[in-house]
Amino acid sequence: MRVKSLQPEEVIQRFRKTGALLEGHFVLSSGRHSPVYLQCALVLQDPREAEEFGRSIAERLQTENVQTVASPAIGGLIIGHEVARALGARFIWTERQDGAMILRRGFSVSPGERVVVVEDVVTTGGSTRETIATLTAAGAQVLAAASIIDRSAGRVDVGVPRMSLATLDVPTANPADCELCLRGEPAIKPGSRKAEARRQ
Ligand SMILES: [Zn+2]
Repeated sequence: MRVKSLQPEEVIQRFRKTGALLEGHFVLSSGRHSPVYLQCALVLQDPREAEEFGRSIAERLQTENVQTVASPAIGGLIIGHEVARALGARFIWTERQDGAMILRRGFSVSPGERVVVVEDVVTTGGSTRETIATLTAAGAQVLAAASIIDRSAGRVDVGVPRMSLATLDVPTANPADCELCLRGEPAIKPGSRKAEARRQ
């Protein structure tokens, strides 16, 4: 079945509707401050959304003859699985152990296996790069990387072609240089107990 490709505005709209994209003044997990906060899990809690995002990413990878989709856990698990389903490919993941991103659980790749790496959000590209390095060291051929959202405004280079369903250009700042802080606006750490309490 041929499905209509999701447009970037539609993707962002779905994030807004489910609270997966918040606008205001936030403390990111990196400690930096940002006027935008993304929590992909909130849009992906609806399996139909996850499936459609997965299909849209898969459409653009169809020509690559992908054998395996690999994702860094935890963020990439749901979307990677949906992309693999749409491509009829195998799905595996890497996870962190003692700081290193590794294949566990008996997962392995064959020499030259055609793999794409899929994440929910690319910010610095760090976990995608680490996953690519792990797979390449194991003998796989990493063809491309994909994400639902690219919040690096397309700037991140992971060493293989990269695509995303929507791109955000959102400045982040050190708390010391944060304009919103200078204006005296309180910063919220979404998902923390404090933020929960404030909401109730
Ligand atoms: Zn701030």
